[in-house]
Amino acid sequence: MRAVEEAVVLADQAIPGHWRVTDPRQAARSIEEIRALAGARNAVLLAHNYQLPEVQEAADFVGDSLGLSLQAQKSDAATIIFCGVHFMAESAKILNPEKTVLLPSLSAGCALADSITPESLLKWKERYPGHTVVTYINSSAEVKALSDICCTSANAVSVVRSLPVDRILFTPDRNLGRWVARQVPEKEIVVYDGVCPTHDVLRDASVDRARLDYPDAVVIAHPECREDVLAMADEICSTSGMLDAVRRHPEARTFLIATEWALIHQLKKRYPDRQFIPADGCIGCRLHCPYMKMITLDTVGRSLRENVFEITVDPEDAIPARRALERMMAVPRDR
Ligand code: SF4
Repeated sequence: MRAVEEAVVLADQAIPGHWRVTDPRQAARSIEEIRALAGARNAVLLAHNYQLPEVQEAADFVGDSLGLSLQAQKSDAATIIFCGVHFMAESAKILNPEKTVLLPSLSAGCALADSITPESLLKWKERYPGHTVVTYINSSAEVKALSDICCTSANAVSVVRSLPVDRILFTPDRNLGRWVARQVPEKEIVVYDGVCPTHDVLRDASVDRARLDYPDAVVIAHPECREDVLAMADEICSTSGMLDAVRRHPEARTFLIATEWALIHQLKKRYPDRQFIPADGCIGCRLHCPYMKMITLDTVGRSLRENVFEITVDPEDAIPARRALERMMAVPRDR
């Protein structure tokens, strides 16, 4: 119990004030209860890097979309509790149709996934005939089903390079799509106009402000950030890629992190002697995903006790969506 309490307190130091755990002992008790419930019903808890730190502490595995998709397939648990957002749980269900997949809150959507619909994708496909559709995993099952291959931010460049075609329609994130297009200039890449508001809100001016306080800091940015922010970054990578990126800067003591603040929990766990600061020049209020934070220890406990909320996917979408996801999973990480 003490170790769990300490892990929750570690989270406490790394995160914006109003999201701190007020009672680490109570959080540790809830985590113990969740672990016991998960064991009793042969459930595995998967948590995205943007989950609340105490939810990360309750999970069996913490990672990015690609890592969790692979983990979902590897696990022999009968039930997957997906501590993330809806499209992630849906992907886990598509890859594991025989398993029960539960999402602890149906309010955990994703603004980026909602920025593309099957109807809008069909219109873009009509506008760009002959283009191979590469769709970011942050999308619904219906949209994946209309795509040739999926990607995550961990392997987007490798996915595009791996395709034996020159014309690509990249959906739905425009910042990630434009970044990929800059890495693969030899291909014609049309980019859909969707966006993640959590990352898109950040401006180079805010990062500059943060740099005033930390002039020697290494800037690490997620490719869902705008081009002006990416232009200032020393490293551009997925959330799990960020965990490795720190190792490439053994001299650096401080890092400005341009992605959702909860990733800092994993960074701090892995590198306790380094300082990690949200790169938003304020108090971590901008780089906040409200959807990810719909999952709490209370909703995870309820999910396990009451078997809610079960995620299902129409088989008509599940079969082609699975094909697009499996093609994605066969492509290795960008680095
Ligand atoms: S951070 Fe952005 S892309 Fe990720 S779940 Fe939140 S809204 Fe969606």
